[in-house]
Amino acid sequence: MAQLLDGKLLSEQVLEEIRKRTDILKARGVDPGLAVIFVGDDPASRIYVSNKEKACERTGVRSLMVHLPENATQEELESRIRAFNEDPKVHGILVQLPLPGHLNERHALSLIDPQKDVDGFHILNAGKLFSGEEGTLPCTPRGVIYMLKKMGVPLAGREAVVVGRSNIVGKPTAMLLLRENCTVTLCHSRTEDLKAHTLRADILVVAVGKPGFITADMVKEGAAVVDVGINRINGRVVGDVDTENVARKAAFISPVPGGVGKMTVSMLLLNTVEAAERTLS
Ligand code: NDP
Repeated sequence: MAQLLDGKLLSEQVLEEIRKRTDILKARGVDPGLAVIFVGDDPASRIYVSNKEKACERTGVRSLMVHLPENATQEELESRIRAFNEDPKVHGILVQLPLPGHLNERHALSLIDPQKDVDGFHILNAGKLFSGEEGTLPCTPRGVIYMLKKMGVPLAGREAVVVGRSNIVGKPTAMLLLRENCTVTLCHSRTEDLKAHTLRADILVVAVGKPGFITADMVKEGAAVVDVGINRINGRVVGDVDTENVARKAAFISPVPGGVGKMTVSMLLLNTVEAAERTLS
């Protein structure tokens, strides 16, 4: 039976560490602050924003929440971003995605000061990741790698397969696995014979958004399987992996809930504290 990649436990440890770093910062006169801009009323986003606020409370990071109505204009959104860019008490800025359809997400994100871009979605930070330069890493991919390394999953030289190529999960996760010297394959909806690829994977990361998409027959014996998916079925949250059956074959598996989602929030707080620490150097 697979060993659990326990995001709940690992993220608790990260939050504890952040709490200590926050205390040190405060003693040196820096009070770390995270600004969250939430537009509209998407129920899933509401839950994510509330989880982020709770994590701020846990770690002593000040959270500044701006809730704009569904019909907010691009100008309103952008003036909030500009104000937070200017505010020295704000170290991290996060625009909760997705934005309502009439707003230009890409343009809004491009306005965030890259030093305060704690989601790591700014084109400059994405470019730094691609070029192997130091920058802010996106939270979910950072959490995936953190989990694998912390649990001692060997990475260098191993076959890693990522299913899903979004800019926020699949692509940056593939780049980080490459940075860890994995041999990386990035699969997507046009991939032919997906199973032939997933069966080669020593590390399989799945970010598709389809419940039960990865079944046991698609997984190599002894693989580490990271399930990024968050799907809601009749009020229950499930991932993209048929966890019960895959766990019999895999050596490591991350559960949903209690896996990558928890890591994502703790990495957000880590990015925020690191941004605050940079103001001292
Ligand atoms: P997107 O919808 O942006 O991307 C989904 C990807 O899956 C696309 O690249 C798509 O391919 C690929 N895909 C779809 N169908 C298939 C298929 N049949 N075979 C192979 N690939 C396929 O989703 P996100 O990356 O934003 O999110 C993925 C999942 O992760 C969602 O469930 C989301 O809720 C969850 N998530 C979880 C987070 C966490 O903290 N745990 C954070 C962010 C997301 P193509 O590009 O060709 O269309």
